Amino acid sequence: MKLPDLDSLSFPTESRILLRLDLNVPIHEGEVADDSRLIAALPTIRSLLDRGARMALCSHLGKAAGAPDPRFSLGPVAALLSRELGFEVPFVQDCLSGKRGSLLDQHRVILLENLRFYPGEKKNDTGFAEALAEGFSFYVNDAFGTAHRAHASVVATPGLFDRAHKAAGKLMFSEIQALSRVVHDPEQPFAAVVGGAKISTKTAPLEALMSRVRTLLIGGGMANTFLLAQGYEVGRSLVEEDMLDTAREVMDQAKERGVELLLPSDYLVADAIDAPEKVEVIPAGSIPEEMLIVDLGPESRGRYASALADAATVFWNGPMGVFEVEAFSQGTMAVAQAMADCPGFTVVGGGESVMATKKAGLEERMSHVSTGGGASLEFITGETLPAIRALEE
Ligand code: ADP
Ligand code: MG
Repeated sequence: MKLPDLDSLSFPTESRILLRLDLNVPIHEGEVADDSRLIAALPTIRSLLDRGARMALCSHLGKAAGAPDPRFSLGPVAALLSRELGFEVPFVQDCLSGKRGSLLDQHRVILLENLRFYPGEKKNDTGFAEALAEGFSFYVNDAFGTAHRAHASVVATPGLFDRAHKAAGKLMFSEIQALSRVVHDPEQPFAAVVGGAKISTKTAPLEALMSRVRTLLIGGGMANTFLLAQGYEVGRSLVEEDMLDTAREVMDQAKERGVELLLPSDYLVADAIDAPEKVEVIPAGSIPEEMLIVDLGPESRGRYASALADAATVFWNGPMGVFEVEAFSQGTMAVAQAMADCPGFTVVGGGESVMATKKAGLEERMSHVSTGGGASLEFITGETLPAIRALEE
């Protein structure tokens, strides 16, 4: 079923729209520490404003556990929104408040308090969804970052609106468009880079990618488990002993399908992550007992960069090393740079990989940088995400 998009949603001016956003921004000492998610939501808000809508914005924030918790209040976001939009955006301290209607008589945009202050949100509770939707004739979801969660504001709530009264916002739409291009019929040669801490959190996307890519590059802590599976010493490196079979399966699958599987051939190792005294380059297979793998070595960086140079499609998830430490960020930066230089269609998905891309200042040079970490990884598996299905039905 085709996803209803914002431009084809028709509504009379003055319509009241419930707009679900991903305003799950980091809050530090009562201030918004990174406003990227809010900025990413603005095009949809502005487009609806231009068309004369009145809207209540709603979102979750942090790990609120079904009850009000000042640490996770969306209050600081309201001030920032007011500044960005250039008019006052009143903050409603209870997302189900009976005052929402009268506030919307006076204001074009209001912001509702954290949805997760109610237990019904995470439980996908119909009663909560009905109370949330009360008074709104349209529903728009632009929260791609939450699309993989079957929560009330993104599943039960759109279930209360028919297809003519709901739509995906602009951000949601562009995410789906970019990621679909990777998942369904990617242009070949397609290369995927998968790294990050653990293989256990990436088995489903790895499996899915395996059936589509021509080249699979493995790096990060996850590659250590592959080393161990091949019988090499890994010293004190991060490994998952219970994932050795998974690593072997990936290697077997690659052979069977004719996928070129790249594993690091050399490493940067250190005696510690914090304040290391010894850092050296070591070929794979001879990691000293007292050392741990922290990044790709120079040879691997070169091999990985060349493997990406001529790809028509590249998907990257997971850093190649402990990139948070400057000295251990070269492998990750090499991948980011190779993607930026690649003329093909390049997509970065995943919390830390996106952070690394921004740190490298290469965001603008990628075809798409996903705002949804978990959601983009789940999308890659080829499953329809619950919130997207709820818009299509
Ligand atoms: P993403 O958020 O992009 O999906 P992950 O959450 O899977 O990535 O993993 C990111 C983390 O992996 C980073 O914090 C990084 O420090 C860590 N990491 C990468 N390589 C190693 C390694 N060799 N040893 C330990 N941790 C690593
Ligand atoms: Mg992460």
